[in-house]
Amino acid sequence: MNSPITATVDFAADGVHHGHLKLPHSDDQSAWGAIMTPLSVIKNGDGATALLTGGNHGDEYEGPTALLDMVNHINPAQVSGRIIIVPMMNYPAFCAGTRTSPIDRGNMNRVFPGKVNGTATEKIADYFQRVLLPMAEYVLDIHSGGKTLQFIPFAAVHVLDDAAQQARCEAAMDAFGAPYRVLLRELDATGMYDSAAEEQGKVFVSTELGGGGTTSTHTNEIARTGVNNFLIHSGILNEAPLARGGVRLTMPGDNCFVTSQHSGLLELRADPGDKVEAGSEIARIYDIERSGEQPLRYYAPLSGIVLGRHHPGLVRPGDTIAVIAMVADA
Ligand code: ZN
Repeated sequence: MNSPITATVDFAADGVHHGHLKLPHSDDQSAWGAIMTPLSVIKNGDGATALLTGGNHGDEYEGPTALLDMVNHINPAQVSGRIIIVPMMNYPAFCAGTRTSPIDRGNMNRVFPGKVNGTATEKIADYFQRVLLPMAEYVLDIHSGGKTLQFIPFAAVHVLDDAAQQARCEAAMDAFGAPYRVLLRELDATGMYDSAAEEQGKVFVSTELGGGGTTSTHTNEIARTGVNNFLIHSGILNEAPLARGGVRLTMPGDNCFVTSQHSGLLELRADPGDKVEAGSEIARIYDIERSGEQPLRYYAPLSGIVLGRHHPGLVRPGDTIAVIAMVADA
């Protein structure tokens, strides 16, 4: 395969193998250096392959936490097939604690299908596009809100042209067992890993499990349970599943995203998970240049529950203040 990235483990070997994806990278710190992205491969005989990732964005931590833990505990005798685990997909971003890579500002989930002779982030994306995704039937990418968003914990799939593929994705989402399940609408799906996996016909599930640039015991447990359930559902892990289902939510239109048109101090009037009625006040933005001004008020465009919110206390025009989803079944 024509890629500058090489894996230091053999994807075809049975057993548990830990190594790296090695991407040569010459910079001021290391003239003949390399980006060494941790990789684990667990294989036992024949069967399907699952590709599990966290850290697609470097400031989202439930995925890396659950996957770094899982590779230490999984019993390969319970595995039929193969599990490929990249706990920190955009490794330079993860090490910097930032959403995008400090090397090229690359946002991993906006550069697919990547570029073999592109930037570091594009080269990693290209390796996933042409090497790792084609190996897998089941693909799970664990996201959270990062430093600037906060979500109720949910697993998600997209509306796909292929109804049978969408049904397979939904079954895997249900099996993941997060408290909420979302038929997700994207602000902009261009360049997403999600789209790359879906276009290759994979059973693909993503998540948003929390946010604010940290984790909680609750969200880490959802990630751990979800990873196990996803592998059980795919027929790769021979264990009894723990939780299933969750409240099902839909996003009927672009008005699910409440976008700020102002800068200032944000006061959300409903928290993630709260019910809101169409027309009810959802946020106030206070002028921070003078006191004595009335705050600008934002109103819920539809009835539903708050799926997520802008996490920092200050907002700027263009920020997503809140995301509202409709309850499909209670
Ligand atoms: Zn993310």
